[in-house]
Order: sequence, then C-alpha cells, then structure tokens
Amino acid sequence: KKSSLQEVKVAVVGAPGVGKSAITVRFITKRYIGEYDHQGDMKYKHEALVDGEPVLFEILDTCPKHEDDLPSNEVLNWADGCILVYAITDRISFNYIRKVKERICEMPVALVGNKGDMVHLRQVSTDEGDILAKDYECSFSEIATAEQVNQVADAFHELSREIVQSRKK
Ligand code: GDP
Ligand code: MG
Repeated sequence: KKSSLQEVKVAVVGAPGVGKSAITVRFITKRYIGEYDHQGDMKYKHEALVDGEPVLFEILDTCPKHEDDLPSNEVLNWADGCILVYAITDRISFNYIRKVKERICEMPVALVGNKGDMVHLRQVSTDEGDILAKDYECSFSEIATAEQVNQVADAFHELSREIVQSRKK
C-alpha cells in the first residue's frame, strides 16, 4: 500500500538575526547565503524524503522586527510545528524562545542553537539548551548553518516526525 504524502507546516521562529533565513534557505537549497534583505515573512514549499517517505514541507520564515516582536496568533494557528531558533552567541535570543514557548504549549517544536561555529562568542551553554529541551520534551541540537547542511535537515526531519506522530494520537 502506498502511503499518502504527508504535509507539514513549519514556522521558523526566533529573535532577529539568529539565522532563521539562513536555516530555511539551507534546508531548501542546501546552500548557505550570508545575507537576506527580505522585509517580511517568507513562505516556501519543499519536498524531502524523511525515513524514505516523501514529506511536503510548507515553511514560514518569520521576520520579527525587534526582540519584543513575538510571532502572531495567525502564524501560530497556521503552523503544525515550530523550529525554535536562538543563537548560542545571543543570550537575549535564548530568552526570546522561552517567551514564544509560553504561547505554544501543545504544538510540536524543535529547539536549535545556531551559530555553533562562533564558540569564542558563546553566551548560552550547551547544557542550558539541553535543559530547556528536556523541559519542552523536544529535540535539541547546536548547529552551524554557515558550515553544515545535514544538521539543519535533521532538525526539520525530526520535527516532521513529531508532527506526523502527533496526528496519530
Ligand atoms: P534571521 O534574522 O533570523 O533571518 O537571520 P539571518 O538568516 O538573516 O542571519 C543573520 C546573520 O547571521 C547573517 O549575517 C548570517 O550570515 C549570520 N548567520 C546565520 N547563520 C550563521 C551561522 O551558523 N554561523 C555564523 N557565524 N553566522 C550565521
Ligand atoms: Mg530573516
């Protein structure tokens, strides 16, 4: 029996400058592009194989203008799950994640600490990320979007597994 195509709506959420657009473009194109000049949210579609099964990702790369600018209800209602992105070099971006998570209790999430290549400027320890992920019962990885392709894809794939699993309940 051929299983039907799963569609998952993923919002990429986090404070300004953490690398949400870099992560999104990395996942879709496998390329790293350093600078993006878009002013608003961007929506993409991308089909990928997860555990050998095709999954259609609808991805919303959100674009908060400042640190107090949390994702709207419209975005959170649209999404099946969120990639919660902070930068290990930015304590404020880690606190941003907590504020977002307070508003999305039930939704599957994946926690990602980006800019893992910038350890010399680290402000958030790996342990802190681990502890937060245990609290949220979600996956966690420190990644360097600038240097790696697979880590980014792994985070999207893991979130899609969680979303598909949550539909079976
Ligand atoms: P957004 O505002 O969250 O969408 O962040 P962007 O994707 O626009 O990235 C903000 C800045 O961080 C850009 O200058 C990127 O080149 C840079 N950046 C993104 N990911 C990484 C990374 O993994 N390592 C480093 N060193 N810089 C990154
Ligand atoms: Mg962006």
